[in-house]
Amino acid sequence: MTTRLMPGLERRLTAEISGGVLFDAFSRGRYATDASHYQMLPVGTVLPRTIAEAERAIAIARAEGVSVLPRGGGTSQCGQAVNASLVIDCSRHLDRMLEFDVAGRRCAVEPGIVLDDLNRALKSHGLWFPVDISTASRATIGGMAANNSCGARSLRYGTMRDNVLAIDAVLADGISAHFGPIASDLSDVPADLRDLAKNLLALGAREAAEIEARFPKVQRRVGGYNLDALLANAPNLSHLLVGSEGTLAFSTRIELKLWPLLGRRAVGACHFGGFRQAMEAVRHIVELGPIAVELVDRTMIELARDIAMFRPTLQQFVRGEPDAILLVEFGEDDFAENQRRLARLHALMGDLGFSWDKAGARYGGVVDVLEGALQTAIADLRTSGLNVMMSMKEAGKPVSFVEDCAVPLEHLAEYTARLTELFERHGTRGTWYAHASVGCLHVRPVLNLRLDQDVKAMRAIAEEAFALVRAYKGSHSGEHGDGIVRSEFHEQMFGSRLVRAFEATNETCSATPRAIAARSGKRRSTGRPIRARAADCWARSRCATTTAPAANRSAAPCARASASPARSAT
Ligand SMILES: Cc1cc2nc3c(=O)[nH]c(=O)nc-3n(C[C@H](O)[C@H](O)[C@H](O)COP(=O)(O)OP(=O)(O)OC[C@H]3O[C@@H](n4cnc5c(N)ncnc54)[C@H](O)[C@@H]3O)c2cc1C
Repeated sequence: MTTRLMPGLERRLTAEISGGVLFDAFSRGRYATDASHYQMLPVGTVLPRTIAEAERAIAIARAEGVSVLPRGGGTSQCGQAVNASLVIDCSRHLDRMLEFDVAGRRCAVEPGIVLDDLNRALKSHGLWFPVDISTASRATIGGMAANNSCGARSLRYGTMRDNVLAIDAVLADGISAHFGPIASDLSDVPADLRDLAKNLLALGAREAAEIEARFPKVQRRVGGYNLDALLANAPNLSHLLVGSEGTLAFSTRIELKLWPLLGRRAVGACHFGGFRQAMEAVRHIVELGPIAVELVDRTMIELARDIAMFRPTLQQFVRGEPDAILLVEFGEDDFAENQRRLARLHALMGDLGFSWDKAGARYGGVVDVLEGALQTAIADLRTSGLNVMMSMKEAGKPVSFVEDCAVPLEHLAEYTARLTELFERHGTRGTWYAHASVGCLHVRPVLNLRLDQDVKAMRAIAEEAFALVRAYKGSHSGEHGDGIVRSEFHEQMFGSRLVRAFEATNETCSATPRAIAARSGKRRSTGRPIRARAADCWARSRCATTTAPAANRSAAPCARASASPARSAT
């Protein structure tokens, strides 16, 4: 007979939660992974049918001294969706739209609603939620808000932080509160939130100079807590919860800003004979006012040519053998204006010295893509970037650990060149794709994590790459969040004073330290503070499920990405 972990906790939950309570070994194994290379067995999982049931589960966990881990689609790449905690899976039942104001362009949703489902419901009203992340078919609004997710069109729409209006959430001590815009004199803050708001604003004021000096000035900064939100003239407290990866509170209702659907767009596929030339061109292209500039590199083109479903798409828009293509999208309301901007793109490429007649690095030009069906097919290819890269047929695979650093555009060419040199010094190469427009490229060095030398190279590459990012005043976490993989580098990137401020934020929000806040994300997975090195997270080369007693558990890296049990992540 299988021995159940914490039978008392399981019994209490089973008696009170109707949506599902999973403590068997098989279910725990399924929830031990997300899309990162970590595996950690949870204590068990609950599938609350209602928000009241979720609140009940949190209360029971608190009473039993167990930390909770909120979870959506489990598509996180940094290990923030795994821990030795009680998992509360919002994706199974907590997926309702609670309010919808078409004229005011806003809605309120439960945390487990999947982005594509939300947008399907909004479409007939001419609206959408435009944080268009690649995992839109599985990722939930709760997970997106917690990770401060960002879509390909963040140049126009910003990140989740720019699109979340308010959040209702449960704090570690069980208090439910509404986090939204507040007057800086706190006159409109409900009594039960006033002390917390006061302490947070005081913390922000105390650290204002350090925040100004140390927070990278790039749009894609999703690392650390959003302490800068506390400095605004009219602060919105929900923006502190955005990006906090479930470590400050459990979101129960998220209010979103909605946008009109995009009309007919014009896309120019800019071809480049040299990768560096493409990187140099990005900042000039962005000045033409596109809504997205997405990179597809030679490796991705070559791999996609071997995949039957993508071959016909490539045949329609790739000319010759470019080293890189930038997909430049214009999305103004007026299609004629989009065509004018596309014409300017052609002129710009000419001014930069690219022509179809040239050989080598200056080979290039623009292929127009005006037909909607082809635009969709190209977007599908781009958003399948990871699948395409992982189709590599060699022992080494592109590994995610420095994959979403962001640097200011003026440094993009230099940064990518130096990172390429760094990979070469460690005997490997990188694959590149995604959000050139905001200096956030998905770069994965090809490594075989079954070889000790490649595990060592991984550690060294991470340390050197983050030093490089810091030198360019960039962000080490530009899209996927901190989780386990990034938190240990906060000290190096933000400085120790700000890391102490992150810890103080966590403590301020969690009157009961063993509850929500004691999990991973902005803290280490074992509950140790954010400053602890996670050397053990990097040193092991094989996929391993942790079975040690809770106190000894560490996150084990695993050389494969895996998905939520509920929804496939890749
Ligand atoms: C192939 C691939 C492509 C990706 N592309 C993108 C991309 O284009 N842009 C991008 O930004 N990201 C991308 N990601 C990362 C990931 O998909 C996003 O971060 C996504 O928003 C996570 O949503 P989720 O529902 O899967 O959340 P999960 O992974 O389940 O959880 C994410 C975090 O949210 C917390 N959380 C979940 N629910 C709640 C709640 N109710 N209250 C408080 N905290 C909660 C969890 O504890 C965790 O810390 C990609 C990942 C993969 C594997």
